[in-house]
Amino acid sequence: MMKTDPVSTYTWIPLTIQDEAEDLVPVISATKEFFYDEDGNEWIDGISSWWTVIHGHRHPNIVQAIETQLKSLDHIILAGHVHKPAEILSKKLLELAENDFEKVFYSDNGSNAVEIALKLAIQYYKNQSVEVEAEAEVGSEDSLSGGPSRESFLIFSSSYHGDSIGSMNVSGLTYFNRIFANLRFPTFESPAPNCFQCKFGKTPDSCKTECLNSFEEEILKERYAGVVIEPLVFGAAGMIFYDKKVLEKIQTLCEKTNTLLILDEVFTGMGRLGKNFAYQLAGVKPDLLAMAKGLTGGCLPLAATFVSKKIYSRFQTKDPFRSFFHAHTMTGNALSCAAGIASVDLLLSEKETILSLESNLRKNMKELQNRLGGKLKNPRVLGAIAAFDWSEEIAEDEYLNPIGKRIRNQLKKNFVLLRPLGRTIYITPPYTISSDSLEKIFQALYEVLSNLGRGIE
Ligand SMILES: *Cc1c(COP(=O)(O)O)cnc(C)c1O
Repeated sequence: MMKTDPVSTYTWIPLTIQDEAEDLVPVISATKEFFYDEDGNEWIDGISSWWTVIHGHRHPNIVQAIETQLKSLDHIILAGHVHKPAEILSKKLLELAENDFEKVFYSDNGSNAVEIALKLAIQYYKNQSVEVEAEAEVGSEDSLSGGPSRESFLIFSSSYHGDSIGSMNVSGLTYFNRIFANLRFPTFESPAPNCFQCKFGKTPDSCKTECLNSFEEEILKERYAGVVIEPLVFGAAGMIFYDKKVLEKIQTLCEKTNTLLILDEVFTGMGRLGKNFAYQLAGVKPDLLAMAKGLTGGCLPLAATFVSKKIYSRFQTKDPFRSFFHAHTMTGNALSCAAGIASVDLLLSEKETILSLESNLRKNMKELQNRLGGKLKNPRVLGAIAAFDWSEEIAEDEYLNPIGKRIRNQLKKNFVLLRPLGRTIYITPPYTISSDSLEKIFQALYEVLSNLGRGIE
């Protein structure tokens, strides 16, 4: 077969089969839920550009905040220095989290925010050992050697925590990371809960968290540093929702076994589920939390790891060996922090916006279900997420199942950006999307899906 043109000349486009012809959309501008290509076509960004642009593209408040910040300070190394934007943003974030945490540790992407949580968790136990050792008499039974080392994590099969080696390690083993399987440090992977397709045939009412049975057996061995999980929604695995009962049970087991609860809110943080954070909706209290995607409203890279008092206090020491030696060059960038402040302020004014978006999503989903009938499976809406599974074709490996790509390419003809995950189609629009644009997305879905099997492509 003839080799087609490369997809781009100089730039390696991610998550793309390099030698496969795929028409890249050359984008020149964006505003609100729209972006515009070189031919002047107006597209609807139905996934907030990978879940980041929560207030719409180039929100004037964020643009203004960045412009103002640029007049005084661009960037300063955060080691040995501090600045108002970092301090103000940290304070606002801790308030969003209703003071469940003590400190905010900055980085610049979700994978890093997760890895920082992992390193903090491991060092939390190491520091404890050092404390115990210092207090115990030399050679006594209390010294280090006795306790189990806690350097491993309990994880879930449907989890996605990022693409760096560390964050990949605590993600479920999938098509994405299988190639690097030998680099994985040992973890215990528990089957993930999935309340829309419960393997135990239960409903949330009859559920006794049977899906956690092997997890429970394992955590009781008391040798794990932490449990790492995306609260209430496994995002990248296909918008898999699960009940808060699961998190409550995990939290109880964590407390019982002195295991840390590490929540990855890179996707769910900043209001995606209707509350500021998913853990608030679930009513649990994590020890560490990672967030990133919506933090600056998609304008600049920024991520944060929230550290509870319990964890932080173990690092409050003059002992260099108990300090946390971790930093990224652009940590706490002043422009990113200024964008973050504006983004958090916007979020505080958007409570009602998200609620009405949620009911709008429900309404549209119901209509789509009525129009498309039985092939539309597991329709689900939570906060600003709507998802369903399409049953036309089922391949062994969901992501490679070409149906998702076919749907995506068909939608392009309607100038709608969605990126189905295998046969799961989801919409994660900016919270501020208009009803009109939302209807256009659902209408495009109807047209594409009702024609899929008819060879019109
Ligand atoms: C996207 C995502 C990450 C990774 O974030 P990056 O900024 O892409 O490194 C981690 N965890 C979750 C839940 C995510 O959705």
